[in-house]
Amino acid sequence: MQRLTELLHDTEGEAIFDLSFRLEGRVPSVIGHVSANLALQCQFCLKSTRWVIEREVNLGVVASIDEASLLPEPYEPLLIENEKTTLSDIVEDELILGLPLIARHSVCEMAAASSEEEGSPKEKPFAILAELRKTGGK
Ligand SMILES: [Zn+2]
Repeated sequence: MQRLTELLHDTEGEAIFDLSFRLEGRVPSVIGHVSANLALQCQFCLKSTRWVIEREVNLGVVASIDEASLLPEPYEPLLIENEKTTLSDIVEDELILGLPLIARHSVCEMAAASSEEEGSPKEKPFAILAELRKTGGK
C-alpha cells in the first residue's frame, strides 16, 4: 500500500477489512467494512498520533462517469478503468478517504498553546477594561 504508507508517520498499525463482491440487481458492488488503526504525524507537535478509521463500504462498480451518475443510493461509484483494480487498492482508497485533512492529537499540548495565542488579542481588551474598572471605581 505505497500511496497510503507515504501518508503515515510510520507503518505500525493494522487494517482489517471485510469486503464482499455482489451483484445487487444490475449493480456489481463491493459491500463491507474497513477499519484501521494508523499512526499519523500530528501537524502541531510533529509527534506520532493514532488515528482510527471505521468505514462502511458501499461501492457500485462502474466503467464510466456516466454510469456513476446513474448509480442508485447508497452506492458510491468505484470507477474501474482497467481490470487491474485489486481488493487491496479498494481498501487503500477507503483508508486514504478516511484520513483527516490535518492530522493532530485530539488533545495536543502544542495545539492548545497555539490556540491560546490566537485567543489572546481578543481577551486582552476585556482584561484591560477590567483593570480600568478596578482602578477607576475607587
Ligand atoms: Zn500533537
